[in-house]
Amino acid sequence: MPWVNHEMCSGCGICIQECPVGAMSIEDSGYADIDENDCIRCGKCHEVCPQEAVRHDGERIPQEVADNLRWVRKLLGHFREPAEQAAFMQRMIRFFNKQKKVNEKTIDAIKAAEDDSVKGIDAAIRDLPAERNTGSSKG
Ligand code: SF4
Ligand code: SF4
Repeated sequence: MPWVNHEMCSGCGICIQECPVGAMSIEDSGYADIDENDCIRCGKCHEVCPQEAVRHDGERIPQEVADNLRWVRKLLGHFREPAEQAAFMQRMIRFFNKQKKVNEKTIDAIKAAEDDSVKGIDAAIRDLPAERNTGSSKG
C-alpha cells in the first residue's frame, strides 16, 4: 500500500480531501499518514500529491526486511544455548518460507482470476481446503 514520506510532505491536506474512504489524516506531527486498515489501495493520494510525498510500497522493502530482522533478533534473545539458537533460526526460516508460499499462491490465484475478477477470486477461495479457507492468514 502507499505510504507518506514525512520528509517530503508539506501537510497541505489535498490527499485527505481526495481519499474516497477517509483513510488519510494529518497527524500531530503536521504530516499526512495512511490508516492501513482503511486504505483500499486506489492510488488517488499518489496521483494528487503535489510533493510526490506519497510513495510506492516497493520503496519500503528494505524497511520491512529490517523490521523482520529486528523481530528475529528480539526473539533470538530468549535462546541462550547455541543449539537452541540454531533450532530457532531454522524455525524462522520455515516461517518466512511459509509466508513466501502463501504470497506466491495468492499471486497465482489473483492472476488466474484476472478475466473475471470477483467470480475468479470467489472460485479460488471455494477451491481451497474447506477447513483452511475460513479465516485470514494475516496475523
Ligand atoms: S497531498 Fe502530499 S504533501 Fe499534501 S498532505 Fe498529502 S502527502 Fe502531504
Ligand atoms: S490509496 Fe486510496 S484509499 Fe488508500 S490512502 Fe490513498 S487515496 Fe486513500
